Amino acid sequence: MTTSAIHEYIEAVKNGKLQPKEYIEDLLSKLKEQNSKSNIFSNFANMIETSSEGDLQGIPFTVKDNICVRKSLTRAGSKILDGYRPPFDATVVSRMRAAGAIFIGSTNMDEFGFGTFSTNCAFGAPKNPFDSERSCGGSSGGAAAATTVMRHHVALAESTGGSISCPASFCGVVGFTPTYGRVSRYGLIDYANSLDKIGLMSRSVEDIAHVLPIISGKDPKDFTSLAQPELDISDREIKSIAIPEELVDSIPDAKILAMFNESIKKLEELGIESVKVSMPILRFSIPAYYILACAEASTNLAKFCGMRYGKPAREYNRMFNEFFTEVRTENFGTEAKRRIMLGTFARMAGYRDQYYMKALRVRRKIIERFEEVFEEYDLIATPTMPLLPPRFEEIQKMSPATVYALDFLTVPPNLAGIPQISMPMGYIENLPVGIHFLADHWEESKLISVGKIWETQVEHRFPENLGWAL
Ligand code: GLN
Repeated sequence: MTTSAIHEYIEAVKNGKLQPKEYIEDLLSKLKEQNSKSNIFSNFANMIETSSEGDLQGIPFTVKDNICVRKSLTRAGSKILDGYRPPFDATVVSRMRAAGAIFIGSTNMDEFGFGTFSTNCAFGAPKNPFDSERSCGGSSGGAAAATTVMRHHVALAESTGGSISCPASFCGVVGFTPTYGRVSRYGLIDYANSLDKIGLMSRSVEDIAHVLPIISGKDPKDFTSLAQPELDISDREIKSIAIPEELVDSIPDAKILAMFNESIKKLEELGIESVKVSMPILRFSIPAYYILACAEASTNLAKFCGMRYGKPAREYNRMFNEFFTEVRTENFGTEAKRRIMLGTFARMAGYRDQYYMKALRVRRKIIERFEEVFEEYDLIATPTMPLLPPRFEEIQKMSPATVYALDFLTVPPNLAGIPQISMPMGYIENLPVGIHFLADHWEESKLISVGKIWETQVEHRFPENLGWAL
């Protein structure tokens, strides 16, 4: 059973046993010292603003580098945004602050969210706290590693196609991705607007249940957040779980699969029925996702040209094409350039029907199939990732298409905009492995409920060398 570190912290603050300002200053000096090795943070808070009023009573929080923090360097992992200090807070950040949480720093990520291992970060890849030669996952890799190293902490992270679940799984923490539209995207540096969701990482489900209501809800500054049913996180009865056979049968790692089957058995012993279902349409998720995500990304990145947004070029006195080309050639990473080209191609007149429009139709069919399954079953479960956190040297040898294909378990729910929770399932070779639960749109409470049940079955472990941070 994992207890809520946030409750513990809040109690200690209330009883006068812990002073947030002192606690955080000490924590920050340790984190800064470690950062040259771990590379978890892209930037630390300039000053500690403490108002331990409100529900979160001085709890430290980190923010993925693509979420705007007022006056604080916010670069979305990209050189092109170097020096950018937003004049405003994203809605999620201002809601956290209003609840008394304290911003301590921004966490490293793949440039604009483009990646699965956080190795596409212009400021270096964060290292997995379980093994520094391995990836934290991506794109919210820094957020997940920060959650592994700090007990009393909440991370704001973001997922377009699995960027909360994947790193949460690789770093052995809880990652929660809400329904699309549940949490305001105002102040998020977009990757793909129809897919982006801000969510949370923490060490326990209880902590997520505590913070989710604070960041959720309508925001007139984000119209996609307006039409939503009230968030309810009360305990729900979970009777059944569906297991999509096409996904599970494609997992090459026998140990991960065996652990998953064991986990499903444990849930059955607790009275939750499990049934295999067929969802063949999910086989088209990866191509559909990469077409749609890149198409949207390629338009979103157009504004980074050195005029209003992005680092300006050295010389102004020439034609705009030359000027933009220099800025973009110098400051976008290889993966960003690849996605601009893929996305622009998919949107081109003449190819639009063949790729973009077809991908939209596939997406619709995927959503419909999920809806059918949720009419019969409470939840869907799979392992979160099909592999253990890979070594950096292994990642270097992977082609882009190989990396994209590794997202086949996390991309389908993201395409459908349904909520997800990734939780530690167990450990193989001392590395964490995640289990992924999916629920129907707006059914976050079912995920919190199954999360609490699952937490009674698994002992969370953290690397022993983390004494400095705890
Ligand atoms: N790995 C996926 C991609 O590269 C998902 C990333 C994300 O969710 N930001 O697009």
